[in-house]
Amino acid sequence: MYQIRKKVAEISVYLYQQGLAPGKSGNISLRKDDVVAITPTNVSLRDIDGEAVALVNLEGEILSEGIVPSSELQLHLMIYREREGVEGVVHIHSPYATGFALAGKKIKILEGFGPVQEEYLEMVGYAPPGSEILAQMVKNGLKKEDALILEGHGLVAVGPSLEEAALLSEWVEKTAKTIFISKMLQK
Ligand SMILES: [Zn+2]
Repeated sequence: MYQIRKKVAEISVYLYQQGLAPGKSGNISLRKDDVVAITPTNVSLRDIDGEAVALVNLEGEILSEGIVPSSELQLHLMIYREREGVEGVVHIHSPYATGFALAGKKIKILEGFGPVQEEYLEMVGYAPPGSEILAQMVKNGLKKEDALILEGHGLVAVGPSLEEAALLSEWVEKTAKTIFISKMLQK
């Protein structure tokens, strides 16, 4: 299990370094069989090492004593229970994508979103962070898509591996930035 915890730690630090998870924001997880390794609550992704990563089963029972998982644990677990084949989930409040989310503006899909089907990235309405209703809405929104904007909040990306989910989240953020720049230049 150390390998999957180490992988979560590596990708956490990567996301922080890319500016995608400022402060103590953001949570990510990786599924292997019936076990989910997820970032702990209230720790910056910058500071996470393998031993800080929580382990839970798909029902949410904590397997790593003394480590409290992210407050968005339910959101991660619901996605894994719904989407066979998803092995990585990334939830971040990256600046540009979250700016679009706060303004309630959709992000147009540029080349490179892979399996995302719609012309605009899907956005789900606002629900409080950490709530069951947010987890439900995200689960439903991700039935057909691999990336989703949460209105007034941030984004979620999933993939067949945690690396893929992280790269997709990075792509969404950079796309939001590109669209923002393009709109500024048109003024
Ligand atoms: Zn959040």
